[in-house]
Amino acid sequence: MDFYFPTRIIIKRGCVSENAERLASFGKRCLIVTGKSSAKICGALTDIAKALEAVNVDYKIFDRITQNPLFADCLAGAEAARAFGAEFIIALGGGSPLDAGKAIACLAPNPDAGEKEMYSQKLKNPPLSVVAVGTTAGTGSEVTQIAVITGSDGRKKSFRADSAFPALALGDPRYTEFMPENVTRSTAADALSHCIESYFNSTANEFSRMLALRGARLITGIFKNFPDDCRLTPQQRDTLYLASVFGGMAISVTGTCIPHALGYFLTENHGIAHGTACAFFLPYFIEHNMEYAPKLAVEFFTEIQTAPTELAELIGSVAPKMTARVNRAELDGMRERWVNNGCLKKALGGIDNKYLENLLKRAFLTGEDK
Ligand code: NAP
Ligand code: FE
Repeated sequence: MDFYFPTRIIIKRGCVSENAERLASFGKRCLIVTGKSSAKICGALTDIAKALEAVNVDYKIFDRITQNPLFADCLAGAEAARAFGAEFIIALGGGSPLDAGKAIACLAPNPDAGEKEMYSQKLKNPPLSVVAVGTTAGTGSEVTQIAVITGSDGRKKSFRADSAFPALALGDPRYTEFMPENVTRSTAADALSHCIESYFNSTANEFSRMLALRGARLITGIFKNFPDDCRLTPQQRDTLYLASVFGGMAISVTGTCIPHALGYFLTENHGIAHGTACAFFLPYFIEHNMEYAPKLAVEFFTEIQTAPTELAELIGSVAPKMTARVNRAELDGMRERWVNNGCLKKALGGIDNKYLENLLKRAFLTGEDK
């Protein structure tokens, strides 16, 4: 078993203001990396600003991070961090600003580094410390050493390095109450996807499975009582946030598997939200594991007290509908990226090109196109 987890994680309503002193321990100047508006809307930016002011830390706000963050914006953020003399980074928002914060933290002390050096993590100088403050209950990025950044070729690619674990994660589930309905639904599906993909993963160990199972059980419980109008109770928000952190800790060991590997192109080519894209492939992944890992599957579905078909139905009812239409030409153009894909190789039982071909045909093609 191998489990490395250097992040101090504090989850509590009001935790940002209560931990101002901890922020000050990272330095006197920081760059706050965030998106356009949600950190302001949900109150997180005000809380952070007040906490920093209380302990005399100077800050600058870099709010140019978009969904599926671009490498070019991370480079601009690194430049802003250097110009300001930032000693640490506060990454504030959903998975996009959190991942961008990790990228900026490693690019800032390495002015000569480009895309290649970032993805390969071949960097001369160590990154700045990152404090992560999540505002969605989904990616768990506040507790992972993974960052998914869209490269200049328009493709979502990740880097992974022990030095990219945030030093501190502050989780206040109140912020998640401001998410619009589609973001709540899609990010919750992402969190469940992490738990399932980590559990049924050839690189899982007892500890990561324990986290994945607990996360899946909690999220399934919420899905069973998911209100039609998406108005989750504060308790449900707390639980969902906690479960998303368990999912993040689980994938920090295993990474993801088939749904994430296949889901990226739906986001890149069709603008489908990340969690919605992964959720679309989850029922196929459940089916795969029923066939190729039956013993583990029995254990999993017994523990979460939900039958496989019921879980697939719950995912269908909570996750937003995946609306992209994909034809054979698009799939043909995609084939090369899935050969030797590291995430796909982690599927239990192994999958070959024929298997993948068949899955994609069933998922997308009808009639003659097949
Ligand atoms: P996101 O892309 O960070 O945000 C989605 C939308 O929700 C944005 O419009 C954002 O607004 C808004 N939003 C965020 N928090 C809000 C709040 N509390 N109230 C109201 N609106 C809010 O969404 P995400 O699903 O959390 O992150 C997805 C990204 O994470 C993808 O790039 C994915 O590949 C990556 N990811 C990373 C990991 C990892 O381990 N590192 C794992 C899975 C996924 P603003 O634009 O104003 O910010
Ligand atoms: Fe994800």
